[in-house]
Amino acid sequence: MGTMNHYETDLIEVRESAGKGLGVFAKVNIPRGTRVLSELPLLDLGHDNSKNLRPHDILNAFELLPRERQSFYLSLHSCSTDSFARVVEHEMKKDWIDIPEVQRTIFSIYAANAFGTVFLRGSRFNHSCLPNTHFSFNRSIEQETLDCVRDITAGEELTIMYPDVTNRSRSQRQKELDKWGFTCTCPACEDTPEGKKKELKRIELQKLDRELGVQVLIGTDMSFRQALRIAQEMAAQQESEGLAIRALAISYYNAAKFCLELKDTKMALLWAEKQLEVDLWCVGDDHPDTQNELKVVNWLRNAAIDSEYDECVAKWYHLADMSKEPCEVINTR
Ligand SMILES: [Zn+2]
Repeated sequence: MGTMNHYETDLIEVRESAGKGLGVFAKVNIPRGTRVLSELPLLDLGHDNSKNLRPHDILNAFELLPRERQSFYLSLHSCSTDSFARVVEHEMKKDWIDIPEVQRTIFSIYAANAFGTVFLRGSRFNHSCLPNTHFSFNRSIEQETLDCVRDITAGEELTIMYPDVTNRSRSQRQKELDKWGFTCTCPACEDTPEGKKKELKRIELQKLDRELGVQVLIGTDMSFRQALRIAQEMAAQQESEGLAIRALAISYYNAAKFCLELKDTKMALLWAEKQLEVDLWCVGDDHPDTQNELKVVNWLRNAAIDSEYDECVAKWYHLADMSKEPCEVINTR
C-alpha cells in the first residue's frame, strides 16, 4: 500500500477499478483542459523505440534505475502476449522459458504498460475508446503529460486511449488492443443498445476516414470540396460522441487544409481556430504543436483581413501533415 500513496496528488488517486485492477480516479471536480499529471519516463530507453522493440535496452534501462524505482516498476501490472514473447525470443535468441524469471517479469510489465516506454503514474491509467484524458509526450519539457479533455466529476475514473483507434470499428480497435493483452469493456465496446449505437457511429467514421483518403489522392478541386465535406462530417460525428481528443483536432486540421486548397482563407481560419482550441485541451499551450498552430492561426488571421491567399501557410499545412500521425508518437530520446 505504501507505493499507492506515491500516486496520489491533489487531483487524482489510484484505487481499485471494477474488473480492471487498479485505475486512476478524480478526487475533486476537474475542469476540461486541466493537466492532471506530468512526469519523466520511468524507463529511459534512450532512443525512439516506437518501431523496434529491443529487449536488451529494456533490461539495461531497468538495471540503471535506483532500487526504489525498480520496485515501483515491479509493482506495475504484468501481462505478456504470445506475439510479444515471440519477439523477445527472437531478439534474445532464447526460448521464453529459458529466459531468467526476473527478466521475463520485466518484459511482461513492459508489454502490459508501455506506450512508447513505461511511465510510473501514466501507466496506471486504463484505456477507453471514449477517453476523458489525453496522453502525450511533450518534447519541449521532455515529459509525458495527461490533460483532461472533458469536465470530470469527483469519483470518476480517468481514462486514456492507448493507440488512436477513434475512427475504427470495434473489432479493429480490439485487434490493436490485443497487444496490451486485454479486452476493452468501455462504453463504446459494451454489448448494450447504447454501445451498439456508438459502434454504428464508429463504423460510419471508419467509412468516412477511408473515403477522405481517396478524395485526397484524386487531388482535384472537386475532390477537395468533397474531402472538406467529409472532414466536417467527421468532426461533427466525433463531437457528438464526446470525442474531444486529437482525432477531432485532426478533422479540423483537415478541414482547414482543404479550405486552403480551395483558396478560402477565411474558412481555413475558422477551422484552424477550432483545431487549436481542441489541441489546447489535449496537450496544453507548452506543446510544440500548439505553439506552431498558434503561429498559423495568426498568419491566417492577417491573411483573412487582407483577403489574401497565403502561400506560406498553405505550405505549412503540407509539411505538418497531421493525418499521417494521428497520435503523438512517443519519442523517448
Ligand atoms: Zn473500448
